[in-house]
Amino acid sequence: NLSDKLDKAFHILKGHGKITEVNVAETLKEVRRALLDADVNFKIAKDFTTKVKEKAIGQNVLTTLQPGQLLVKLVKDELTELMGGDVAGINLSGNPTVILMSGLQGSGKTTFSGKLANYLKTKKNKKPLLVACDIYRPAAIKQLHVVGEAIGVDVYSEPDNTNPVIIAQNAISFAKHQGLNVVIIDTAGRLAVDEAMMTEISNVHKAIQPQETLFVVDSMTGQDAVNTAKAFNDILNFDGVILTKLDGDTRGGAAISIKTVVNKPIKFVGTGEKMDAIDVFYPERMAERILGMGDVVSLVEKAQEHYDEEEARKIQKKIAKNEFGFDDFLSQIQQVKKMGNMKDLVGMIPGASKAMKDVQIEDDAFKHIEAIIHSMTPKERSKPAIIDVKRKARIAKGSGTKVEQVNQLMKQFEQMSKMMKMMQGPGGKNMMKMMGN
Ligand code: GDP
Ligand code: MG
Repeated sequence: NLSDKLDKAFHILKGHGKITEVNVAETLKEVRRALLDADVNFKIAKDFTTKVKEKAIGQNVLTTLQPGQLLVKLVKDELTELMGGDVAGINLSGNPTVILMSGLQGSGKTTFSGKLANYLKTKKNKKPLLVACDIYRPAAIKQLHVVGEAIGVDVYSEPDNTNPVIIAQNAISFAKHQGLNVVIIDTAGRLAVDEAMMTEISNVHKAIQPQETLFVVDSMTGQDAVNTAKAFNDILNFDGVILTKLDGDTRGGAAISIKTVVNKPIKFVGTGEKMDAIDVFYPERMAERILGMGDVVSLVEKAQEHYDEEEARKIQKKIAKNEFGFDDFLSQIQQVKKMGNMKDLVGMIPGASKAMKDVQIEDDAFKHIEAIIHSMTPKERSKPAIIDVKRKARIAKGSGTKVEQVNQLMKQFEQMSKMMKMMQGPGGKNMMKMMGN
């Protein structure tokens, strides 16, 4: 993927003790190739490297102590700028605010409508209404109702009405009546851009004059994403882009190309199928991510958001009193799980995504561990030493695991406890501080 390729490009630089103009050029050629491979438009990639090269020469990259790092910074800054520079907010000024979703079928409109409603409800204290204007497939209306139910947001639909303009207008009146202040309109898409779809969304757009028209695009569609974005922007002059499916092995190229071609900000990204898999788009973090530096800032924010300080203090006390048991271990696991999907988390740690490339991380990496702990008695959880061979066999059976797995967990737990005790000793205090207490 792009990060690996860029890593390789920078490696060329690192391999040389001294930087010469020749290997800067060579590195940037590799950077360009990496961008092209990630489906960044040829001209954009070329302009990009030319600009970085000019800046590099202007800043005397060749004579600095750490030219490799300076070049990485230049590439990062330039990538950030390409993707919009600053964070673009969402306009919530209307009463109600009307948000119209556009995009091809399968791009993630319905899923994102739900995520946005959930985000506005939980983070912005709004009262959203979801509106089903995808009238061609009964399953589409049903899908939105399922989403609405999951997040506790009302869904407006008219199963027998075949006019999306009227449905949208009725929904807005309904919202006003009910005191709901954001109306999110989910629309129908087709597999490819066609006239009927464009006319329909354009009619809805004209009739309701939304505060925000968002274009939803699957970031895995690469170069096609740019053409689709252009077609929709020509008709709707939309306000922002939503990049979905940025989880998994996704190319970052779409973000760069779309921004450049339609000159509209990317506002949010979708990073999974669940309703909380939504993130504000930070150009700088995206640039870092593309460059493989890891999204450390996001990781820290996520950790802060979910880490329960009270719980942390309690556990620290227990460690001090030598009372840390499997129950506490279990609650630590729960803390980590609240932070999100393991794969996403690992991807945010610098270097880890590469180091862990061949390691399978299951979504429920903790499933076995939890099952084993649940199969222990409360007494065993607080005093694991009393678990004998017979009990181990019983615990394995009860948790659907093997005795080796139970043994492994107990061994790991023992090592962990030892380490924790060590950290309590002289000099250990600082270490605990370093670990974020
Ligand atoms: P629509 O046709 O534009 O309404 O697209 P949907 O919202 O129905 O999404 C199409 C498929 O993509 C569904 O299976 C979604 O679960 C999936 N999907 C949507 N957003 C994301 C995302 O951010 N990540 C992943 N992995 N899947 C997504
Ligand atoms: Mg849909």
